[in-house]
Amino acid sequence: MFQYTFITTVLLFTFLNNLLYSSTVINNGDYFNLIVIGGGSAGLACAKEAAKYNKSVIVLDYTVPSPRGTSWGVGGTCVNAGCIPKKLFHQASLLKKYLHDMEFYGWEMNNNIDKIKNSWSSLIENVGNYISSLRWKIRRDLNLMNIKLLQAIGTFIDHNTVNAKIITGKLEYDQKLKFKNVTIRGENILIAVGTRPTFPKKPVGISKYCITSDDLFYLEQPPGKTAVIGAGYIGLECAGFLNGLGFPVKVITRSVLLRNFDQDMVNLVKQYMIKDGITFCTKCEVINVVPTNSSEQLKYDKTGYIVTWRDERGREYRDFFNTILCATGRLPFIDNLNLRKAGVNYDNTTGKIYTANEKTSVQNIFAAGDVISVYHGYYYPLEWEMPRADGGGDNSLCYIKVISLKRSDKIIGVHFTGPHAGDVIQGFAVAVKNGLTVRQLQNSVGIHPTIAEEFTRISITKRSGLSPRQLSCCS
Ligand code: NAP
Repeated sequence: MFQYTFITTVLLFTFLNNLLYSSTVINNGDYFNLIVIGGGSAGLACAKEAAKYNKSVIVLDYTVPSPRGTSWGVGGTCVNAGCIPKKLFHQASLLKKYLHDMEFYGWEMNNNIDKIKNSWSSLIENVGNYISSLRWKIRRDLNLMNIKLLQAIGTFIDHNTVNAKIITGKLEYDQKLKFKNVTIRGENILIAVGTRPTFPKKPVGISKYCITSDDLFYLEQPPGKTAVIGAGYIGLECAGFLNGLGFPVKVITRSVLLRNFDQDMVNLVKQYMIKDGITFCTKCEVINVVPTNSSEQLKYDKTGYIVTWRDERGREYRDFFNTILCATGRLPFIDNLNLRKAGVNYDNTTGKIYTANEKTSVQNIFAAGDVISVYHGYYYPLEWEMPRADGGGDNSLCYIKVISLKRSDKIIGVHFTGPHAGDVIQGFAVAVKNGLTVRQLQNSVGIHPTIAEEFTRISITKRSGLSPRQLSCCS
């Protein structure tokens, strides 16, 4: 009975899905108030906003497959290969940690914790199903708002005209795309094509051996021992959850972790990750990658790659990895747009489009030296006190920094490392945007016992030279 209901639901789902796509009929010369090229977070938000004003809107969305062949439907990177799967994989890895904590809270684990293994295939399948459901909701919402959605690549013909190369399927014999071209016209056109991963230029040919974050959440086989090249957000986030899921991880990067970030915070993140078992090779350059079917393979009994890298002193190291994950940055994906035809100016090297309204990438706004005050403090999360008696003496992992303008007391930035950092920082981000001052922060009620309350206890400035060590509880 259950199976029957399930099959019926799947058929219904597929039918409705096809219905939503096939309901988009367009013809040469069709005119829209807004054409959106790219159906990710930005493109969809703009499309929906325009539709609220009764504007006719069409979204063109197609994900050109990664070099490994990974592609997905509407929703962009965030939904399909970014924030959403990342958070779910992160949650999967945290759960194993909680198992260890549970013993301290009286759960009888009967020494079984270390025998518990994660099933990569179940994780991939369940996350994949969830992502599919999100894509379904996106298509349904667009449909309800009369926004047309085409699985199509948009290319400018001129500043008002776009060729939509509508992907209608794949030719079975060589997997090439079946498509038809339709020319549409738009009063306004939004380019919201997002970014795609880049590969290092050296060693030559490395891209053929690497996956990127675009592929990771769709890997059919577990990644195994993994080398992560690059230590930006993506490299570190992936390293964190892969390690938590039980795969050995080494991060190799050419400079330092999160180079443009506050290095006090970064060093704490690094220490925390090292404690968790991740190894780091900083200021190192990968110089060679060889698949183990070369003569080197005799030393190893698994399939994968021998990676050789060199440190800043010229010393060479090598190790075996099953998977190499390149997280060496992303660049705007403008390849198919033909921006010149539309007269759009862009940076030839980075592909970044110059936009007058977004000049406020605040390159010219900065604060340094005497004009700012930096408040800081360490704390120890209550959640950690009991289960982590071993780390109990180390009160220097969780840290808060509040940066304010000295003259006005206005806060211009907050940093936070510790559990639930994303959730904690969200509320403060709203307050900072609305002009929060240090005095207001200190006068706020701290909800006890929470981690976020530590922000309201902040009082030590760096300039004072006083110790930022943890204040006693409940002070
Ligand atoms: P990224 O932040 O630019 O970091 C790239 C990393 O790769 C850096 O550590 C960089 O080192 C290193 N690298 C670059 N070229 C290399 C090479 N040839 N050999 C070795 N290492 C190399 O890029 P990302 O982590 O891929 O992230 C891409 C974008 O997604 C970023 O804009 C990021 O902000 C965004 N993102 C945001 C979030 C979030 O907000 N939570 C999450 C994921 C991604 P250097 O420091 O020396 O340049």
